[in-house]
Amino acid sequence: MSLPNDPVERLIQILSRLPGLGRRSARRAVLKMLQDPQRLMLPLADGLRDAAEAVRSCEVCSNLDVVSPCNVCRDPRRDRGLICVVEGVSDLWALERGGAHGGLYHVLGGVLSALGGVGPEDLSIDALVARAAEPGTREVILALPATVEGATTGHYLADRLEPTGTAVTRLAQGVPIGGALDVLDDGTLAQALRARRPL
Ligand SMILES: [Zn+2]
Repeated sequence: MSLPNDPVERLIQILSRLPGLGRRSARRAVLKMLQDPQRLMLPLADGLRDAAEAVRSCEVCSNLDVVSPCNVCRDPRRDRGLICVVEGVSDLWALERGGAHGGLYHVLGGVLSALGGVGPEDLSIDALVARAAEPGTREVILALPATVEGATTGHYLADRLEPTGTAVTRLAQGVPIGGALDVLDDGTLAQALRARRPL
């Protein structure tokens, strides 16, 4: 979709593509910035440029960070034998905010979906199998969405991971994951992790 030449209208259109911002909210945000450009608009422009230039995808787990491997993968205090598999970076960030997982992560980049045309080759599955096969890996925890697609993906992953001999577990049932995960309080997430079970 081409953007209009008018800078204000262009800004509204771009902002309205963000999650949680419809056209009306985007217009209000732009108006607020226009009324205080020195304090809001220019710092935001700098912040956006800095973040866009600095942030990259972690070569190990696909987290977004300013370094690769990311700061989670680099942290020497983390349990490297434990890999938590999530659908997207937002789930990783939610689990990190809760502080309940002391191991590493693996971002799949989606879940299998026949309707959405997402097959195994579209997800970071080969890399996960390779990580699970490393000698130090003891357990792969699946923290996937509590949906049909999430369950299908979980079973597919369990089949693919079986030859590695690594234990595969999933979060306690009934925990909404995927988008909804970041609205859970820390205690609920920690409980779901503690109560994980074999797949
Ligand atoms: Zn990483």
